[in-house]
Amino acid sequence: MSEQLKTAIFEKLKNLQDPISKMPLDQKNPNLSIVIENEKALISLIIDPNEKDKFENFTTDIKNSLQNISNLQSVNVVFTAEQKIKTSNISSKKFNINAKNIIAIASGKGGVGKSTFTVNLAAALKLAGNKIGILDADIYGPSVPRMMGVSDKPKANENNKLIPLISNDIKCMSIGFLVGVDTPTIWRGPMVMKALEQMYNGVEWGELDYLLIDLPPGTGDAQLTLAQNSKLTGSIIISTPQDVALIDARKGINMFNKVGVNILGIVENMSYFICSNCNEKHEIFSHGGVKEESKKLNVDFLGELPIDKDLRIGSDEGNPICISNPKSEIAKKYFEIANKINLRFK
Ligand code: ADP
Repeated sequence: MSEQLKTAIFEKLKNLQDPISKMPLDQKNPNLSIVIENEKALISLIIDPNEKDKFENFTTDIKNSLQNISNLQSVNVVFTAEQKIKTSNISSKKFNINAKNIIAIASGKGGVGKSTFTVNLAAALKLAGNKIGILDADIYGPSVPRMMGVSDKPKANENNKLIPLISNDIKCMSIGFLVGVDTPTIWRGPMVMKALEQMYNGVEWGELDYLLIDLPPGTGDAQLTLAQNSKLTGSIIISTPQDVALIDARKGINMFNKVGVNILGIVENMSYFICSNCNEKHEIFSHGGVKEESKKLNVDFLGELPIDKDLRIGSDEGNPICISNPKSEIAKKYFEIANKINLRFK
């Protein structure tokens, strides 16, 4: 349903133009991102703050153009400031964690397997002997607690810092613990900033080799806040092979390039399916699109992961397959990717 709504929204918005750049609000617009949650749309557009007066009526234009879309319950339009600073040049960062590497896991759209990837990469890196933390920053659908099988509320220590929950020797902290996983929240820029700062400075992470951050899908405030305020080692982009997912992934790559965050590579998830009856390989969402795209974008291709029923069951039941069945074919694929990452930072 959310994909249909998104398509219907783009169909209407493509007739509008950004008043300054004159770019149409279509799928190719790198400044535009749309997130659908419970039939509500959050539309964000990156603008030059010096030109903000020219956008005064633009919210109304956007909302008016979307009036007749059935099932669309509400529209929230946000204009965010363009990031002109190369963040890697900033030496002092506001958000601090004692981690050797901080890797953000990103995707252009939801449902492509970003959280599943995060928890299994965490498990694979852990089994390779690293100290690991996962920060679940997915404000639209925090799912790391469920996938790691932790549900308690984190407690505070004597310094008033939250103690991460531990699952399989991996430290976990989720933005869902702050707001409740099922509480609908409309996040505004300053709220995102405050919550993320708390996830960094207000948590007793201890020493880590890797902190993996499960980002919300798209190119919104959380991505920009982290790029600006924390020392990100780099980002990994997860995409499925279809064109629609790739278009959004490309936007994510453009955004990270714009804000000076290193892209460690891109992964194709749900690449193909091996049928357990006929043992044949079925390319359900087509296959290979991400590898092709990575060449065009000059980004490393980290690997492809098939559709795997046990992987799905494991992550939905709080039991990442890299821990429950490390000898499985799918787990081996994760170990290969973890190895590539590990080799780069050892
Ligand atoms: P995202 O974080 O991108 O929204 P999730 O990681 O929550 O996506 O994955 C969405 C659903 O797809 C989950 O039910 C998950 O178990 C399933 N899934 C993810 N990757 C795979 C895969 N390779 N094979 C089978 N199911 C998968």
